[in-house]
Amino acid sequence: MTIGKLIDGKAFAATLRDKVGEGVAGFVEATGRKPGLAVVLVGEDPASSVYVRSKGKMTVAAGMESFEFKRPDSIGEEDLLDLIEELNHDDRVDGILVQLPLPGHIDEAAVIGAIDPAKDVDGFHVVNSGKLATGQEALVPCTPLGCIMLLKDELGDLSGLEAVVVGRSNIVGKPMAALLLAESCTVTIAHSRTRDLASVVHRADIVVAAVGRAEMVKGEWIKPGATVIDVGINRVTDTEDGKARIVGDVATAEALAHVRAITPVPGGVGPMTIAVLLRNTLVAAHARAGLGKPE
Ligand code: NDP
Repeated sequence: MTIGKLIDGKAFAATLRDKVGEGVAGFVEATGRKPGLAVVLVGEDPASSVYVRSKGKMTVAAGMESFEFKRPDSIGEEDLLDLIEELNHDDRVDGILVQLPLPGHIDEAAVIGAIDPAKDVDGFHVVNSGKLATGQEALVPCTPLGCIMLLKDELGDLSGLEAVVVGRSNIVGKPMAALLLAESCTVTIAHSRTRDLASVVHRADIVVAAVGRAEMVKGEWIKPGATVIDVGINRVTDTEDGKARIVGDVATAEALAHVRAITPVPGGVGPMTIAVLLRNTLVAAHARAGLGKPE
């Protein structure tokens, strides 16, 4: 029995961050200023705080300016919208990211909709999702863009391949499907109402699992030789030692007997997200400065 390959997202992300760093150096030379990323964090959610800290560190490591805005849970929607407006007009800021989720009393769509689409480095604004859907140049959500980079690195030309995306969220599933379609894959989007998910997944040369259910996609569902991108991040408690660990949406150990290649969790898609965020910030900075798209 052959065993598939584990795709090293951590190494790929490190190389991408280095490339962004080189691009930043060129940008500084051309414009005399550093690209800037503003991250807005509302509340004290520990996971979000860790994530924001790590984004800040990597932004600085890539040679960019990092601006952090922490606001209490109690902030009103108007005040948050005022902050976004200020950042929209701040020339030092090329990218604005509002860490989600926001507290229940704030309308997330209104906040995302208030971000200048040219600074929307998360790619969640309807202008950017509309551009992506219609094949125009857009700022693309970081996680799916990271997934397509890993797929192209592994498979080269994706055209004509059968791709199944499990999950239809606005931040992962839908943009992922749009990106695969742009690469001329034949795309199926599966979700919680899909009938006989196992046989739908079994058709695919490319499987992208973005569900949020621990190890839901079984090894035997995978067509031999398929490439699998596991976006899921699920915290589970090990039955043997009682320790918490993170697993994906795919039963990786089983799947390895069927796949050509698969992203592990952790160490696959996860590290790509921040690296692509930095890349998107450089892309936004280039566009705002009237420079072409960076290499
Ligand atoms: P959402 O909860 O927004 O979407 C989950 C999707 O999965 C929905 O479309 C839902 O279908 C579908 N789904 C749920 N149950 C089933 C099922 N039994 N069979 C088929 N489909 C099902 O999640 P996100 O898209 O935001 O995230 C997905 C996963 O990816 C999560 O684990 C999240 O933590 C992870 N993630 C990882 C990132 C990273 O950097 N690596 C970044 C972003 C997310 P329906 O629409 O019908 O309800």
